[in-house]
Amino acid sequence: MRIKSPQGILSLDNILPEEPLLMMGAGPVPIPARVAAANGIVINHLGDTMAQIIEQVKLMTRYVFQTETGHILGVAGPGSAAMEMAVANLVLPGSKVLSVCSGFFSNRLAEMAERVEANVVRLVVEKGQSADPEVVADYIAQNHPQVLTIVQGETSSTVCNTNLAAIAAAAKEHNCLVIVDAVCTLSTMEFDMDEWGIDAVITGGQKGLSCIPGVSLIGFSDKAWQHIESRTYQLRHWCLDAKLADQFWYKKAYHYTAPVSGILAIHEALRLVCTETLKVRFDRHLRSSKALQAGIEAMGLSLHVKPAARLNSVVGINLPDGVEGKQLLSTMSNRYKVEISGSFGANIVRIGQMGEQCRAHNLFRTLHAFGASFNCLGQKLDLPAGMAALESSLDQYGFDDQI
Ligand SMILES: *Cc1c(COP(=O)(O)O)cnc(C)c1O
Repeated sequence: MRIKSPQGILSLDNILPEEPLLMMGAGPVPIPARVAAANGIVINHLGDTMAQIIEQVKLMTRYVFQTETGHILGVAGPGSAAMEMAVANLVLPGSKVLSVCSGFFSNRLAEMAERVEANVVRLVVEKGQSADPEVVADYIAQNHPQVLTIVQGETSSTVCNTNLAAIAAAAKEHNCLVIVDAVCTLSTMEFDMDEWGIDAVITGGQKGLSCIPGVSLIGFSDKAWQHIESRTYQLRHWCLDAKLADQFWYKKAYHYTAPVSGILAIHEALRLVCTETLKVRFDRHLRSSKALQAGIEAMGLSLHVKPAARLNSVVGINLPDGVEGKQLLSTMSNRYKVEISGSFGANIVRIGQMGEQCRAHNLFRTLHAFGASFNCLGQKLDLPAGMAALESSLDQYGFDDQI
């Protein structure tokens, strides 16, 4: 046998930029040093140490989801795997699903429901608006879907569904289970699983939680769990079967080898949220995003969504004629070492405000890089006015209260 050698192998030093880019896009986002350190540790996935960490992760997740449920599970996979886990375990083939669609990720939930052979109706929300609870309630009353899917913050269109409580209440009246994707909003703004009556909550690591990508969390309500327990057929998914995952998360038994490093990282990310407290964290996110928005508008640009339905955790900015998103993004990363996101269709770029992105030093660097890159491309903006608006918006708070 002649063993062939690979050609052209590079070390990471030869691939990564000398200075890491500041990640200010729609995710993944910068992570705190403690999260990065935790992610470098591997321990036995079934030992006592892991068992203690799992208990802590469930405890802290209950706080972040605002729930008392006994059905919190971790998922070795992206936010999309957690979305698929919720759908695959709650949607029966042939059942009716109402998918409230305001962009890319809500459509992904609909597609996942179609793949488990449900009859899916997409309720397409008008561009730039939150879903109207009355319209949703009317639909539910007439059509009696068994499951409703919705996204709290639609990262793609930068719209926020601000009426989740009313929508979930309408669903509950007709015994319809509610699945909410809170990937980009969890721990950045109010979310109350029990109070609002949500049956499945999904989050990924790399957005609001400021953790690594590829490890996610999901919570099921008691009602959702009864539905899972009473299932009489075998789920087609093996990895995503909630009953099997329960073996690891509640019975210390083997399902698959848990992503131990990722779970340690999630532990640290959650612990930082608990230490900061949700109230302070929501406030930090809101202040940070509002200050950024004020800076962008003062430079002479307009925001994509009106304030009533605007997502604060990912801000969409309309591009003026003559500036190409791709060119702007590459100027920002090449000249200023700051990365933001392009779009999924609309002529916008998006700046994230999730977790560690919401710090004053990151805001100043990002807004400067943003405005200066427009100027480089020949679109003259009032950069000093933008920076001043950012400064004065942050300055409303005392020095000790800096974000
Ligand atoms: C990013 C995102 C997802 C998908 O997360 P992945 O980890 O990329 O699978 C789902 N929903 C929303 C709202 C998101 O922002």
